[in-house]
Amino acid sequence: MINQALKKIGRVQKIDSLILELQHKFSLIDPGRGAQAALEQAKANFEQAEAKLKTIRAEVEDLELQSKSFEQKMVSEKNRLYSGGVYNAKDAEAIERELANLKTRRGQADDRILELWDQVEPAKAEMEIAKAGFDTASAKVSEYEAKYTQVRAEFEEKLGQLNVARTKEVAEADPKLLTKYDAMRQKRAGIGVAAVVDGVCSACHTSIPTKQLGDLKLGDTLETCENCLRFIYYEEEG
Ligand SMILES: [Zn+2]
Repeated sequence: MINQALKKIGRVQKIDSLILELQHKFSLIDPGRGAQAALEQAKANFEQAEAKLKTIRAEVEDLELQSKSFEQKMVSEKNRLYSGGVYNAKDAEAIERELANLKTRRGQADDRILELWDQVEPAKAEMEIAKAGFDTASAKVSEYEAKYTQVRAEFEEKLGQLNVARTKEVAEADPKLLTKYDAMRQKRAGIGVAAVVDGVCSACHTSIPTKQLGDLKLGDTLETCENCLRFIYYEEEG
């Protein structure tokens, strides 16, 4: 009887629906994209704070070299002035002017160094905070990965159990009908066969015409639902 054979396919269908549902639920779980995005943001913040501190320190280093070089030039200008080699007032004035100029420039460099030194501590603190944020985000990624691994293992275990159950049902089923069912469910959103309960197709909830209901009860022909086009079989009143 075809109806009996389809009932067996219906048991395969139940398992296939559970597999689809399980796969769908699993596909909705974030594998860690959120935590990963937060980590990348925290990393960018940390790198930015680190770069800022580095820039400040580099400028201080440059200015210290400049200040030192102004100092050295001043010493050599003074030596020139007082060594007795300069005989006219014009040359002496030029050296005095250069000395004043060097003094101003050294003063400016030293002022800027002090200004930058005031920025070092806040920049350091900012970098520490950014580092802590980065560490926290890293820990969260690891934590999430561990949880996700567990969830995936559970999913795979359940899927394995369902596949074992499916294999058992498939062994009981008619191979030709199974092939037809597989082709049908590919076309119809994973559902290839449906029981008719209380005169209604359980896949699309449409009433089956009386004549077809009679044929289904006889159970000798392969029937499809006029509305959803899936294979249907008769099930005792629910
Ligand atoms: Zn239907």
